Amino acid sequence: MQRSIYLDHAATTKVDERVIQKMLPYFSDIYGNANSQHFYGRKAQKALDEARDQIAQIIGANPSEVYFTSGGTEADNWAVCGLARANSTKGKHIITTKIEHAAIFGACKTLEKEGYEVTYVDVNEDGIVDLAKLESAIRQDTVLITCMYANNEIGTIQPIERIVEIAKKHKVIFFTDAVQAIPVMNINVKQVGVDAMAFSSHKFNGPKGVGVLYLRNGVKISNIISGGHQERTRRGGTSNVAGAVGMAEALRLNRLTLEQDVEYIRSLRDLFVSRVQNEIPFAKYNGHPQLRVPGNADFSFEFIEGESILFSLDLEGIAVSSGSACSSGSLEPSHVLLAIGVEEAVAHGSIRFSFGKENTVEEVNYVVDKLKQIVERLRMMSPLYKVESKTTKC
Ligand code: PLP
Repeated sequence: MQRSIYLDHAATTKVDERVIQKMLPYFSDIYGNANSQHFYGRKAQKALDEARDQIAQIIGANPSEVYFTSGGTEADNWAVCGLARANSTKGKHIITTKIEHAAIFGACKTLEKEGYEVTYVDVNEDGIVDLAKLESAIRQDTVLITCMYANNEIGTIQPIERIVEIAKKHKVIFFTDAVQAIPVMNINVKQVGVDAMAFSSHKFNGPKGVGVLYLRNGVKISNIISGGHQERTRRGGTSNVAGAVGMAEALRLNRLTLEQDVEYIRSLRDLFVSRVQNEIPFAKYNGHPQLRVPGNADFSFEFIEGESILFSLDLEGIAVSSGSACSSGSLEPSHVLLAIGVEEAVAHGSIRFSFGKENTVEEVNYVVDKLKQIVERLRMMSPLYKVESKTTKC
């Protein structure tokens, strides 16, 4: 029988059954528009308020600092464009890194078309942002620094608290995309000191299409979605009550077992990494060896294409993600891998394995066994590999 093994938890996760149960009444009984003044609306509004309170409490924020969005992408777009525009009297320069998610780059491109200047700061070979370069990029007209908390491809966790210090020292607003970090790190926004932070429900067993922008009270932001008076007039659109309820419940459940889950996921990832490193030659482990999210293992398998590995694993019922952006129609290697100095040819052979609490040791061993066979078979067909193995033997 064909197996199905899901190793793509950085892309999305399965909705927890308890989350589904919690959401169901908001599709059937409590379906009012949270803005309506009758009792249907009031019930929906109450659920929305409770979801907001719960999320605020978990991240250490005030409920008035939590804004629901349609996901991480919208929260990222809103933060970057909204913060830059609302503070443009100070200047039109923003700073980001070379390894951000497309949701940040997209917003930066929009701003560039509006006359903003964006500095893309380098990262080192582990994917850690160069703090000296970041600080020296700050100018009189810098209005925003945006740096992701943890990278979605190689899992590297940034020294966010040090970046916050730098931003504060220069009185620049700091925003972080914490979409990959929140599922595995108990982040308290006040302790870390960020001005704004984005995260998304579907990365921690919640529903898709709902996210949060945390915005510290007092920080100015422009709207990017205009319409009704929802989200304290900052984001128009009928509230996704079921989504908000589901997101709050998913985050609550996530925090109940966070430590054990993280430890377990890390043990699976470490087993996988050590087996791959010991048993598959020419496999480059990308990202920082320790400062990375627990479920991420990103490898470049030299002399072969990541897509070929991905499709071969898919045929075996194993779901992973490739490092190149071929899904967008181009076969460009990942900008993240290029930014950490992986050669273009090697970057093409990259695969991201992302583990979750539903995976087992037996699955990890099964995947490594299959992966070994696949890599070996593909290399046998690779002219580059034949040349390399001949020269290595000499
Ligand atoms: N930022 C990062 C780092 C992500 O990994 C993702 C999703 O993959 C997003 C933003 C976008 O989030 P969403 O899928 O909720 O729009």
